[in-house]
Amino acid sequence: MIRENLLNQLSQLLRRVSETLAKPTPENACASCFSCCTARGLTQHRVSEIEFALVEERVGKEAADRFRTYIAKKQDLQGNYLYERCPNYDWKTRGCGIYEHRPFACRVFGHLKPEGTSFPSGCHYAQRAKAFETKNYFDEVPGAQELRFLSREFSLLTPPVAAHYLDPEQPSEVDVSRLGQTDPVDRALLLQLDGKLEEAAMVLIEARPEQPSLYLDYCLASLLTQLEQHETACALYESLVENLPERKDFHYYAGYHALQTGQRRVARRHFLETVEALPNHSLALGFLGYMDLQENRWVEAEVWLVRACVADPENPYFRARLQLIRERSVGLT
Ligand code: SF4
Ligand code: SF4
Repeated sequence: MIRENLLNQLSQLLRRVSETLAKPTPENACASCFSCCTARGLTQHRVSEIEFALVEERVGKEAADRFRTYIAKKQDLQGNYLYERCPNYDWKTRGCGIYEHRPFACRVFGHLKPEGTSFPSGCHYAQRAKAFETKNYFDEVPGAQELRFLSREFSLLTPPVAAHYLDPEQPSEVDVSRLGQTDPVDRALLLQLDGKLEEAAMVLIEARPEQPSLYLDYCLASLLTQLEQHETACALYESLVENLPERKDFHYYAGYHALQTGQRRVARRHFLETVEALPNHSLALGFLGYMDLQENRWVEAEVWLVRACVADPENPYFRARLQLIRERSVGLT
């Protein structure tokens, strides 16, 4: 439902963007040379996950997969592009074969130009495109902020791969070149990068009523985890799980924060939900073992901790607790 809503919103946005941008004039028309639809034509061609998803839903999975390969400029062993030309280009009509669903960058191309980039040689749009500084991207390009908003919300629909359960995206890995002061999530990220976690959290808390967003809540919850504001963090993760039931990994965080505030039953329930959906979630397994150990349920604790050790053999805490249980069993015999 959320996915469908976001894709519909994206579709409407893309249409609006095309309507906003000036139409070509006969004196300055597109020559349909299709250079901008080739791997060598553009140095940079950004397409977000939500836009690939729209192509997948409205055109088909194969088309989306081929498009993804093209955009990634994948090459064979000889260094040739797997797709020299965009697989969506339609030779018969000499135009875009997915025109209605083509991504944002394809629509904006020719109208606006980030400084330092160039057009394919001979492109008729080169003379009229308005140049702007990269750092002003979200203010200058119509629809860019809305696309980012939808893209961020959409990113939450995909659970992380197993290796990243415990390692959500770190701000240091974020591309900061386009972050600005007008967007609260950007402002919070920049403050976070400066080590000002409390100020960053305040920015998000103040923005929440004006800009309801699950992505904003996710950023705030991550910050509150770092600030050890367990009660609020627990409530936020619980609301995220409720809104995004497929994100079972959020149960772990809700459980962790519940445990920190002494809500052991709530914590256990969240950890159990986590491992039911993600059987190799080592920390949820480890916490279940730890809780059983504290409650003198030695047999159950051993089962959880064995599983935790299999999921993460390097974790010294799991090994030490398991060792404790085994020494006790030896002592009892
Ligand atoms: S999606 Fe359409 S407009 Fe965009 S590069 Fe491919 S053929 Fe060109
Ligand atoms: S490179 Fe320019 S002239 Fe050629 S198809 Fe693209 S927009 Fe049209």
